Amino acid sequence: MKTKQKIIIAGPCAAESREQVINCALVLKKQGIKIMRASLWKPRTKPGFEGVGRKGIPWLSEVTNLGITVATEILLPEQLIHLIKVINKKGDLSKILLWIGSRNQNHLIQREIAKIIKEKMPKTVKLLIKNQAWGDEKHWLGIVDHIIGSGISPKRLILCHRGFSSHGQNNPENLRNLPDFEMAMRVKEKTGLPMLVDPSHIGGTVDNVFKVMKESANFDFDGMMVEVHPKPIEAKSDAKQQLTFKELRNLLKVINY
Ligand code: PEP
Ligand code: MN
Repeated sequence: MKTKQKIIIAGPCAAESREQVINCALVLKKQGIKIMRASLWKPRTKPGFEGVGRKGIPWLSEVTNLGITVATEILLPEQLIHLIKVINKKGDLSKILLWIGSRNQNHLIQREIAKIIKEKMPKTVKLLIKNQAWGDEKHWLGIVDHIIGSGISPKRLILCHRGFSSHGQNNPENLRNLPDFEMAMRVKEKTGLPMLVDPSHIGGTVDNVFKVMKESANFDFDGMMVEVHPKPIEAKSDAKQQLTFKELRNLLKVINY
């Protein structure tokens, strides 16, 4: 029996070109996906492709006009202010979803981003919070407290488990980041917030994405955020873990979402 409708966010790691973003949106729309991810700003371990930045905001704006909600990571408050200005002109600001990534652990910035969402964006706009890179439950709960401290309604928050750095821990499946599904469930319970799983950044490879999703099905996740790219091998970031559209269709079948 299917219970509550799961939240599915699918799309490329990064927005790379207008063509890539719009093509993805059209294909995903056909597949019935209502929320597409495409990051404009990419925090990287080593300097490299750091996203197209502001140049890509009009592409996301076009996606909102296709009736699809588009999700992107925000690193700095000024990025969000600019995004709001541009989308307000031609797009649909109510169809934006923002997220704070695992590396953005300056709590002042986290709060500032949440405050801008609260004050300048429609109430339908939600903020997704990924866990930090290291496996510390207190820190994870702390991020949520800091963000709620901005005054944003908890109803606008969603959490996402993307695994933790492995630091030489036992990792037989060679996962990119080790999941702690039990911790994710405790954080879900303690905060009362929906919890998604990010099999892409946990898995690191297409095969692992499938394995992680199957394993996560034993836990009460409210959905997933997964990376999909029209041509994964040509992706400018996270090429090994991005699914093709066909693989996404298969994944959705396997997990019965
Ligand atoms: C991402 O979602 O592309 C990303 C950079 O994730 P994380 O912050 O989990 O590493
Ligand atoms: Mn990625």
